[in-house]
Amino acid sequence: MEITEGVHTIESLGIGRAYIYQEQDKLTLIDTGLTDSAERILAVIEKIGRKPADLRQIFITHHHNDHTGSLAELVERTGAQVLAHKIEAPVIRGDQPPPKPGANTLRSLLRPFIGKGTQPGARVDVDRELEDGDEVDIGGGANVLHVPGHTLGSVALFIPKHRLLFAGDAAVSAIGLGPPAGPFALFNEDSEQAVRSFKRLAELDFDRAFFGHGKPLDGEAATLFRRAADQLD
Ligand SMILES: [Zn+2]
Ligand SMILES: [Zn+2]
Repeated sequence: MEITEGVHTIESLGIGRAYIYQEQDKLTLIDTGLTDSAERILAVIEKIGRKPADLRQIFITHHHNDHTGSLAELVERTGAQVLAHKIEAPVIRGDQPPPKPGANTLRSLLRPFIGKGTQPGARVDVDRELEDGDEVDIGGGANVLHVPGHTLGSVALFIPKHRLLFAGDAAVSAIGLGPPAGPFALFNEDSEQAVRSFKRLAELDFDRAFFGHGKPLDGEAATLFRRAADQLD
């Protein structure tokens, strides 16, 4: 379960992954999985010997339900602060409908079956609205990167001190490393922007990368990102 010092990955959240960043003074959760994932996340917190109240902040990479589904329940049960990009915040609060994903014929055909993944979870307040370049109190200072495309307000977290990247769905390792493609591209709000954002991530220096979908990369991650970026035009 513990894949590197300080980071715990939580799998089997329906269709995605969430991560707990463990520090002496607090825990931070990165994304929350689909609805009904709260119990599983709280069980991991207990397993690592911490209390629900230790969860001080929940960093949301973007508004999709496989990342925000259990947010409301976790906030209620832990009192954690919610951090999300300012473009995603009104959607997470329920003040704005989610933007429509870009045109995609396959998605139109599949729409009746995939609606669940793009619906926001229960309405919940966002305590801190993030912008590109903001710093978040995780791992000695994490940089917020606005990486639009998959959604317009997608954000990634880069922790320079530990050379870690939490990519959300701005990069996917589930079917080869790259910007969300294949089934994941069905939800992209702007696929061209998603490619540019992936290239931006590939310019950073990090060893490990964690994704909403697909196995984390444990070592040489930035090199693999650069190789994948070189394949894109
Ligand atoms: Zn997504
Ligand atoms: Zn996702």
